[in-house]
Amino acid sequence: MTTMKKTFLLLSAAVVLAVVSPIAFGADNWTPGIEYRAGDTALYNDTLYVCLQYHTAQAAWTPEITAALWNAVPVEADASGIYYWIPRAGYAAGDLADYEGGIYHALVPHASLPGWEPPAVPALWQYLYQADEGTVPTIHSPLAGERFVAGEPVVLTVNTGDSFPQPVWHSSLNGQLGTGNNLAIDWLSTGTHLITVTAGDVQAVVTVRVYPDLWKLYQAEPSPAEIARIESDFTLVWVDSTALNESWSDYENDGFDQTSTAPTKFAAYAKLDALRHQRFSRPLPMAEGRDAYIYLKHVVHTLYLTLEGGYNYGGGSTITLTRGFSVWDLRSSADPTVPFPDFVLAFYHSPLYLLFHEGRHSEPGDPGHLYIDGQQFDPYLENGSGHAWAALYLMWVYKYGLSDPAVIKQDARVIATSLLTSRFPRPVTHSDPEIQAIIDELLAP
Ligand SMILES: [Zn+2]
Repeated sequence: MTTMKKTFLLLSAAVVLAVVSPIAFGADNWTPGIEYRAGDTALYNDTLYVCLQYHTAQAAWTPEITAALWNAVPVEADASGIYYWIPRAGYAAGDLADYEGGIYHALVPHASLPGWEPPAVPALWQYLYQADEGTVPTIHSPLAGERFVAGEPVVLTVNTGDSFPQPVWHSSLNGQLGTGNNLAIDWLSTGTHLITVTAGDVQAVVTVRVYPDLWKLYQAEPSPAEIARIESDFTLVWVDSTALNESWSDYENDGFDQTSTAPTKFAAYAKLDALRHQRFSRPLPMAEGRDAYIYLKHVVHTLYLTLEGGYNYGGGSTITLTRGFSVWDLRSSADPTVPFPDFVLAFYHSPLYLLFHEGRHSEPGDPGHLYIDGQQFDPYLENGSGHAWAALYLMWVYKYGLSDPAVIKQDARVIATSLLTSRFPRPVTHSDPEIQAIIDELLAP
């Protein structure tokens, strides 16, 4: 098989790199008076040490008693010459290291430190492939099982070694897609595609799912890779309920079942991922040209997902979301002990407008709410507070949504009208005539 030849060649190169690694075999004796930088190595009492921070060596600070400055280096490599990545070790440029099953290529000599795991420091480590995938080129994008809405740009990125020729992309539904290590296409047809990238005589494959609209995408189970991406984009804190005496572990083994009334992490993931795939023909006015999801990432770092009812709130780059965000049918948020006869899968735009409302409270210009006769208002729509951001988002879904089906756009119109009617003193105005036209349309008697 021709694939085997490539595998053999790359692994041979790895063995050579490991054997000549100066860190493993070429270090000088530790010497007082020498300036050492992080990643430098030195031999002391026949033990190899790696320097953890810049300093000038002093006779009294020998490596074995200065853990803050030096760490003994394990130089064990496996049979193919691949080291394990460990913190506080020295790696030479060209070293290969295995981190959680991913094989990485050291780009510069350095000392590894906690927090500098290879996926977190692309300046130090280049990801090559999964250990169990051999040396097949690795597709970085799309993710395995990633979902898209028809018309949405799909980025195709593959990591191939220098020795590989120009990669060629192919879809089981659309035929040839293009060539190159990085390209974007927006014309994948709906359905499940097997995407193949071929570089010389090696191949990698990934499956993607393309849906006619965002509502259909929302009803499809997120793939593990998509969930992992959400988990890396936000700090998600799953908060148990004292009032209801419930914990997330009660629901941990539930699968993806959109007819269930129980809370599920899937419901929260699905809503966040819906926002990621929601596109508008005109940029959101409050996001300064950012996509909705990127905007959210920009203003919020931590999402507390609680099993409690009550109020959502935001501020200080965090949002606390009640049980309603983590159920499929919003009615189950009111009183989880009361069963309801007809299950209705709730639309995604209603919980998503909450993210804009609460996200606004973490922005510097937030004027906050007004209270008139005990009622909560926003002082104005333009540069207003949470209700303003929520209303604008819903107006955008209604007027400019590219991925939302008509039923969602009409519902967004209804909720936007309700917010404009109930949360702002009249008249509601905006200096942008196009936005004013939407306001006038929605508030027309
Ligand atoms: Zn608010």
